[in-house]
Amino acid sequence: MNQPPADHHDKLSERPKILVVDDQSVNILLVREIFKHDYGVFMAQDGEQAIAQCQAVMPDLVLLDLVMPGMDGFEVCRRLKADARTRAIPIIFVSAQREEADEVRGFELGAVDYITKPVNQTILRARVRTHLELKRQTDLLSTIALIDGLTGIANRRKFDQDLQVDWLQCARNQQPISLLMLDVDYFKRFNDHYGHQVGDDCLRQVAQAIRQSIRRPIDLAARYGGEEFACVFPDTDANGAAYLAQNILSAIRGLAIPHTASEADSVVTVSIGIATAMARPSDSPQALVENADRQLYEAKRGGRARICAAELE
Ligand code: GH3
Ligand code: MG
Ligand code: MG
Repeated sequence: MNQPPADHHDKLSERPKILVVDDQSVNILLVREIFKHDYGVFMAQDGEQAIAQCQAVMPDLVLLDLVMPGMDGFEVCRRLKADARTRAIPIIFVSAQREEADEVRGFELGAVDYITKPVNQTILRARVRTHLELKRQTDLLSTIALIDGLTGIANRRKFDQDLQVDWLQCARNQQPISLLMLDVDYFKRFNDHYGHQVGDDCLRQVAQAIRQSIRRPIDLAARYGGEEFACVFPDTDANGAAYLAQNILSAIRGLAIPHTASEADSVVTVSIGIATAMARPSDSPQALVENADRQLYEAKRGGRARICAAELE
């Protein structure tokens, strides 16, 4: 069966996406008719297709037929729940079987609901709407949990998560990975002199300057804590990291936020420590963090408003 044409209209592509899995086209088309005006409807006619579609499309909900030739709905559900990438997608079983045991098994495998065929349109609509709303709220919460409240950039939790993932990815691909630790210079004096509100505003501007100096989608800028920030650059060698650090240093100085109490400059500056390593799966990225920290300390000791880099291991 053909897929509906990809949605190029921005607003439409923001609609929730549902994947309808059924070996009978007539059933899929029926469900598609019910939802096509409200949601992006994707289709699969067997278990393999269903899993491939989930990985490619990342639907917000799957309506999963139970009995299909080849891989049945239970097995599809089991595999989707076993894969970290697709685990969070809610699954509703849609089945002609009215056996309680099947329903129980479906829930045990992690499905959120079980609807019997022939489907009652009103019930189907209501349950789909409810589960999509729950999914929306869950997604929102997980996003908020990874964002720093003051600056709007990634927080420490997101940094820890991404660093771990990027480290393993770089180890697999035998790529270097670089880490920057940044700390605002004489920021205690800044607060004392201009007040905490102006301090907060300064941190927001610094965060934006860092974010805007970073180009690739896989690069991460995070607030590490207090007036400290950190950047993770996968597949980036020492030269690349030095270049990026220089851009960040200039961008922050370029904000020209007055800081008369600073001994480093007349405007707000940062010190930056860089560490680069060839990741190995057996090592943890902890040493990289410690190295970057040590270099940050060197940059502070050397007079601040500067960059220090560790030698490539
Ligand atoms: P150094 O150049 O050695 O880094 O000196 P410093 O004064 O920046 O370092 P120190 O660690 O002594 O002080 C950090 C200051 O950052 C103290 C703290 O009040 C301030 N700070 C931490 N988080 C926030 C925040 O969220 N908002 C504001 N306004 N200030 C913060
Ligand atoms: Mg500090
Ligand atoms: Mg500081």
